[in-house]
Amino acid sequence: MSNVKHAIKLNYDTEWEYAPAPESTDHISLKDRYDLFIGGEFVAPKSGVYFDTINPANEKILASVAQAGAADVDRAVKAARGAYENVWSKMKPAERGKFIYRIARIIQERAREFAVIESMDGGKPIRESRDVDVPLAAAHFFYYAGWADKLDYAFPHKTPKPLGVAGQIIPWNFPLLMAAWKIAPALACGNTVVLKPAETTPLTAMKLAEVIQAADLPPGVVNIITGDGSTGASIVDHDGIDKIAFTGSTDVGKIIQRAVAGGDKKYTLELGGKAANIIFDDAPIDQAVEGVVNAIFFNQGHVCCAGSRLLVQESVAEEVVTKLKERMQTLIVGDPMDKNTDIGAINSAAQLERINAYLELGQKEGAAMYQAGGKTPKKGYWCRPTLFTDVSQSHRVVREEIFGPVLAIQTFRTLDEAVTKANNTQYGLSGGVWTDKGAKIFKVGQKIRAGVIWANTFNKFDPTSPFGGYKESGVGREGGLHGLSAYLNLH
Ligand code: ADP
Repeated sequence: MSNVKHAIKLNYDTEWEYAPAPESTDHISLKDRYDLFIGGEFVAPKSGVYFDTINPANEKILASVAQAGAADVDRAVKAARGAYENVWSKMKPAERGKFIYRIARIIQERAREFAVIESMDGGKPIRESRDVDVPLAAAHFFYYAGWADKLDYAFPHKTPKPLGVAGQIIPWNFPLLMAAWKIAPALACGNTVVLKPAETTPLTAMKLAEVIQAADLPPGVVNIITGDGSTGASIVDHDGIDKIAFTGSTDVGKIIQRAVAGGDKKYTLELGGKAANIIFDDAPIDQAVEGVVNAIFFNQGHVCCAGSRLLVQESVAEEVVTKLKERMQTLIVGDPMDKNTDIGAINSAAQLERINAYLELGQKEGAAMYQAGGKTPKKGYWCRPTLFTDVSQSHRVVREEIFGPVLAIQTFRTLDEAVTKANNTQYGLSGGVWTDKGAKIFKVGQKIRAGVIWANTFNKFDPTSPFGGYKESGVGREGGLHGLSAYLNLH
């Protein structure tokens, strides 16, 4: 073991590098310009406005996409309403299921193309988009396709009825996966949708529109429109929308909640997080350290349920911090398309600026900052994995969501202290516990006020399990049976 450690150190000190293993982009076809997908066709925006989407790893323009204005949103909502009333809500549920299965299969067939485009447009490592985003997106369509004709069994003694037209607004961290989370249960329940991807990551959603066309879905069942926050606001405000499903920042979530207050639009909100990962002294430390790396550094910390706070039992704190720093030195920051890369590009210049402001703030507040990860490319947006120690509960880097590869470490002595610190946050999306003792897992799991608690693992997702937040992390659940009920009237 000590030899291995030595070898790792030596590699780092001499800046020894892996030979590049880039994923090919030859098989990708991107149009120069993408129109709006409304009523089963790609149509030019009435607004006449387009904007560019760039590759955050090299700042090159990938394509331009349409900026949907209020008139375009209206057109999309009307297409969705027509499809809902005339076709989709009347279709035999088993037939609806067949269409959803078809979408799942085409995503699988085109998995490589989806993974490459996701990494090009969003900056995440190809390993992540290939092994996580795309397979999970297909899995969600498969899972919910299976429920389409079994809703009466899912909700016994009830009469499940669809809600109508769902307006769905998603963020840039898991673009295709979030689209799948939103579209699959909505369709399975008999709703039609208007979906808006984030402005920095619209391309896999437009590819999904091509898949939906290829799957021969009746026109208007799924409409995908691009644009910025103003497009999102037009969706939220539209009278023809029956339900809003939003994933994004807590600030925008609050704006949406205010906008729908008093009306009869249903809504689910999946918002920010500041998850605590708790390591007890009886935990397998090496696995825990690897789990922490997975929880906050992989995917650039662009995960709302990221384990951005680490709570370590005092007696093992030094060992954990030392091992973590060593492991951080071996993380490769760089080209998302390289299969060796652990940490890809930060999604946008604006997000990098936000992260950098927090790095400055943390130091100003008196925290000790440690960074690793070697050289970063000249072009593009990069942030090396960062650790803050000497922090207390009042530090803003401990309290606020940074959405970058930035971890703050605190220590604790007793289980109760760990739980109190973990719960001392406005958020409650997720949490993690590392221990050898099953009883501790249950105790901590019951006491932490968060939607999901991982034990001796982190960031594991499955279409069958519900996901969602307590407190300012959101309202409602997505995934599993809970995710179905969010798209149904149950009487
Ligand atoms: P982030 O901070 O992660 O970028 P945002 O909450 O700003 O998250 O964005 C998430 C999604 O919400 C994006 O698709 C964005 O365009 C959209 N959005 C931003 N502002 C609004 C708004 N006022 N109303 C509705 N949607 C919005």
